[in-house]
Amino acid sequence: MEIKNGDVDKLDEILLDARKKKFNDKFNNEDSEEILFSSQETSKTENNQNDTTKKVLNGHAITKPLQIDRKLNKKKEIIKSMLNKVNQRNHIEVSGNQLRERMLNRLKAAQFRYLNEKLYTSSGGDAQSLFQSDPLAFQTYHEGYQQQVKKWPVNPLDVIVKKILEMPKTYLIADMGCGEGALRTRVPQRVRSFDLVSTSAAVEACDMAHTPLPAAAVDVAVYCLALMGTDLTQYLLEANRILKVGGHLLVAEVESRFEDPQTFAREVQRLGFRLRELDTQHQVFFFFHFNKVQQPPVKKSKLPNLTLKPCLYKKR
Ligand code: SAH
Repeated sequence: MEIKNGDVDKLDEILLDARKKKFNDKFNNEDSEEILFSSQETSKTENNQNDTTKKVLNGHAITKPLQIDRKLNKKKEIIKSMLNKVNQRNHIEVSGNQLRERMLNRLKAAQFRYLNEKLYTSSGGDAQSLFQSDPLAFQTYHEGYQQQVKKWPVNPLDVIVKKILEMPKTYLIADMGCGEGALRTRVPQRVRSFDLVSTSAAVEACDMAHTPLPAAAVDVAVYCLALMGTDLTQYLLEANRILKVGGHLLVAEVESRFEDPQTFAREVQRLGFRLRELDTQHQVFFFFHFNKVQQPPVKKSKLPNLTLKPCLYKKR
C-alpha cells in the first residue's frame, strides 16, 4: 500500500498514541522493576531504528522522505522525555520505600519512648493495665529496649549473669521484671521469671509488687533495670518477703537515675537489707548487691519512700 506524506503525519500520531498507551499501562503497573526494564528495552529498540527510513506497519512497507524523519525524531524526543519521567517516577518509588521504612522506625522509636515514660511514671498496677489492654505495646517496648541494649557499652544483664554463675547451682532465683526472661536461659540455677506480660510459658505475668511466690522461698532476687514506676518501696518489700534470710538482692540501674547511690543504698537498708557491694566501675550502670538481714519495719511510717529519676531516652 502506498502512503502519502499527509497520511504519514497521521500514522506518526497513531504510533505516538500507541506508545503513550503502552507507557500509561506501565504507569499503572505496580512492579517498578518491570517499569525500569521495559523503558530500557524500548530505548534500545529506538536506537536501532535511528538510521532507518523504512518501517513496517501491519506487514506493509512505508517509505518516508528525510523531512518526515525529522518529525519522527521530534516525536522520539517526546517519547524519550516520557521515558525519563517513567524513570524518575521509578526512582521516587524506591526512595519512597526507604522513606516509609524510616518513618516506621521513627514511629516505633516514638512509641518506645512513650511507653518507657509511662512505665517510669505509673504504678505497677497501672502499667499492668496498660499492657493488658494492649499486648502489642509490650512487644513494641521490648523491641525498642533491645535496640537500646545494643547501644550500651555493657549489657547489665551480663554483669548479673557473671555474679550468679559464681553462686551455688542449688539456688532458686527470682528474676523480677524479667522482660523476655533471658536470665533463665543463661544460668544453671532454677529461675522463676516475672513480668507484667508473659511472652512465653516460662514467664509468669504479674505486678512484681505481688508475686505468687511463698515467703522466704528464694535465694536471689534480681532487678535488672526493672525498678521502674512509682512503687519502688513496694517492689523491694516484696523482695524482702520472698527472700530467705541471708538471701541476695541484686539491683542494676542506670547511673543517671541516682542523685547519690549511697543514699539509695542507705534507704534500701531500712527495708531489712545490708549493702554488701556497690559496683560503680562500669560505664552507665551501678550494680548493688545486698543481703536480706531481717524483716522490714512493720510500721508504715518507718518505711522509706524510695524514688529514682526516670530513665528517659532522647529523640535521635
Ligand atoms: N530485666 C530484663 C528486662 C528489663 S526492661 C533485662 O535486663 O533484660 C524492664 C522490665 O521490667 C520490663 O519488661 C517491664 O515490663 C518490667 N516491669 C516494670 N514494672 C513492672 C512491674 N510492676 N511488675 C513486673 N514487671 C515490671
